[in-house]
Formats: sequence, structure tokens, C-alpha cells
Amino acid sequence: MARYYEIERTAWDKALIDLLSSFRVFAPILKGKTLDYQLIQEEHIPHIVYNIPKPVVPLKTFFLPIKENVVVYKKEEKPIIILGIPACDLSALDLLDKFFMTEVYNDHYYAGRREGSVLIGCDCHSANKHCHCTSYGLNPFPENNQDMTINMINGHAIISSFSMKGEELLSRILGMGLVIHTFDEVPERLTEIRLKVKRELEKANRLLPNYQETTDAVINSDKVIWEKYAKKCVSCGACATICPTCTCFLLIDRPGFEKVRQLDACQYPGFERTAGGENPLKKLEYRFKNRYLCKYLYRPEKFDAIACTGCGRCIEACIAKINKNELLIELTK
Ligand code: SF4
Ligand code: SF4
Ligand code: SF4
Repeated sequence: MARYYEIERTAWDKALIDLLSSFRVFAPILKGKTLDYQLIQEEHIPHIVYNIPKPVVPLKTFFLPIKENVVVYKKEEKPIIILGIPACDLSALDLLDKFFMTEVYNDHYYAGRREGSVLIGCDCHSANKHCHCTSYGLNPFPENNQDMTINMINGHAIISSFSMKGEELLSRILGMGLVIHTFDEVPERLTEIRLKVKRELEKANRLLPNYQETTDAVINSDKVIWEKYAKKCVSCGACATICPTCTCFLLIDRPGFEKVRQLDACQYPGFERTAGGENPLKKLEYRFKNRYLCKYLYRPEKFDAIACTGCGRCIEACIAKINKNELLIELTK
């Protein structure tokens, strides 16, 4: 059972300054209205945002860049700390790890970055308009894959560790003598926030079918609904690029001994085109439906992990204003 430690924010900020000597630290900073991870220098520390959902890019971009040359392996000089990760993005690692780190196929690039990073999760103390993690059995607070957690409440940080890496970091922080309270279980004020946010999410998404209902509805769907929504889609691929669980990529040979791994998206016209020119997903409505089949049927079946964590980013990123949840509600009416 994890123990929880309370320290003042000023003391936590001091601890972060100390950690900068051994780690590269990334944390969410607000730029205008956009919350995004930034490489932290000492002067950024007071501006780090805690417990607000959610950084615009998913956690996966730290481990699976949009584009990289996989011929050259560049080891980072310092390990990294990623701070302020929401629960939905941590849960997405269940699928990503099973995809990239198996006995048969261990992707050194992905695995090296995963192993060289410490993940500090943050509870969501509020929810965004399109957040729907609770509809898919997740809670809006970290429960798996986090090394440590932090909650900032009224100028006090509540921190806890959940792995060996987290324990090492926590010992270093505790060694600075900053703790003002220790708790043997989740502090009451945190439990209250968790219940409030969970209730809000459940209320906001009461019409949304759960995962299994969605899987069944997608399997039994009529083509009319896919044609209707696909008409608006412009095949930009943003929904897949921004998705914390999408893993598809292309390998492109370039002159100068370059082999570039670049993220792919099933909405692109050439996604399933073969060398002979055949393309089973040539029609846009087929590709459009494929994304839902992949999320709610193929991936969960193959990897025994959910492939939509309910982060809502695909809804926010869609320039055609396609709302996957409206589609799913319509599908199960
Ligand atoms: S499908 Fe959309 S809501 Fe689900 S995890 Fe991907 S981006 Fe988030
Ligand atoms: S979907 Fe849930 S866990 Fe993810 S940012 Fe929103 S409230 Fe937080
Ligand atoms: S983001 Fe919207 S428009 Fe772009 S491919 Fe996805 S569904 Fe289509």
C-alpha cells in the first residue's frame, strides 16, 4: 500500500531544482490556452501546471516520435522525468508496451526511452468537455504505469511512489527533510476530489455506451452511419496522430543511409495500399470504420488492453468537427 507525503509547494519546487542536476524534466506549462509539455529550466518551475487535464500531445510522443531515423540510435545523456501525466495517457501504455516490448519484438528505441524515463502522474481535479475515461472503466487518477504521483492542493504537494524508480526519486526528495505530514492511505481531501471528478465525468457521459456495448454496436453496425460521418472526414489523420494508443507507422528509405519511421494513420488514402496497387480500404467510409473496428475490436482482442482511453483528443483535433462520441451514441440508440 502506497504512503502519501505532504510537502509545501515551495519545498517541492526546491526538490525539482535539485532533480534538474540529474534529469531532464518535462512538465505541463500553459501557453495561451494550450497546455503542453515543456523541457523545464529552473525559471519555469513556478509555472508548472498541476492536476488540470490534459497536455495537448499524448504521453506516447516521448517514446514514439512522429518521425525518426531508426538507423542511428542516439542514447540520451540524462534520464528524463515526465511530470503531470493524466491517468488516461498512463493507461495507454498498457497497449503500447504490449505492442513494442514483447519477447518476439522488442523495439530498442521505444524500450530504451521507456526504461530511461520516470513517469509522475497527476490526478485530474477537473475534466475537459470531451474527457470520457470513466466510460471505459478508467478513473481520472493514475492507477497503473506511474512511478510516482503528485497532487497539488492549496499550495501543498501530496506525493507518493509506486515503483522502484519512483521509490528512488521519493527517497531523494524525502532525504531533503521537506515532509510536513505522512499518510498511510489516500488523504481524505484527495478522495473527495476524486469522487467529485468521477461523478462529473459519469454525469457528462451518461449517454455514452461502455466499451463492450461499443464493440458490439460497431460489429453490428449498418454502413449508413459510416457513410454519413465519413462524408465529413478529410483524411487528415490528426485523430490517429494525436491518439495515445495509435501505433501504426511506415518505414521509408531515404538517401544517405536513412530509414525513417513515420507515424501512419488509417484515414490516409494509401494506408492499406499494397505494392501491386490493390487497396482494400480505398473507400473513405471503409477506412473511417476501420478506425473504430481497430479501437473497439481488433486491438482489445489481440492485446487484451483497451485501445481508447477516453482522452477525447481525437474529438478536439478533428478539423471536420467529427465527434466520435456523438457517432457512438447514435450507433447505440
Ligand atoms: S480514440 Fe480518441 S478518445 Fe480514444 S484514446 Fe484515441 S484520441 Fe483519445
Ligand atoms: S480523460 Fe480522464 S484521465 Fe484523461 S484527462 Fe480527462 S479526466 Fe483526466
Ligand atoms: S481528424 Fe477528423 S477529418 Fe481528420 S482524419 Fe480524423 S476523422 Fe477525418
